[in-house]
Amino acid sequence: MLSNHDVVLCSTCRARIRWALTTANGRRQPVNAEPDALGNLAVSRGPDGRLYVRSLTRAHPEPRAGEYRMMPHHATCAARPSWRRT
Ligand SMILES: [Zn+2]
Repeated sequence: MLSNHDVVLCSTCRARIRWALTTANGRRQPVNAEPDALGNLAVSRGPDGRLYVRSLTRAHPEPRAGEYRMMPHHATCAARPSWRRT
């Protein structure tokens, strides 16, 4: 279960989000706070207590055990249209 202790509010649209580090390059990425069946990210809690995020791919579309399917916040953020992918 994901705890709520790392949930914050998006500074622009006030949605509930969490910050995770990408497994690819350690960059911070905001994800929506709750798991989302339509998400394309797999988020897991690392042994250091941080959240880590990786992209699900067409070849490997399912989260592994201990991962949650989640939505990148920039896909739904109402206040940051520049985040949206075209
Ligand atoms: Zn937002």
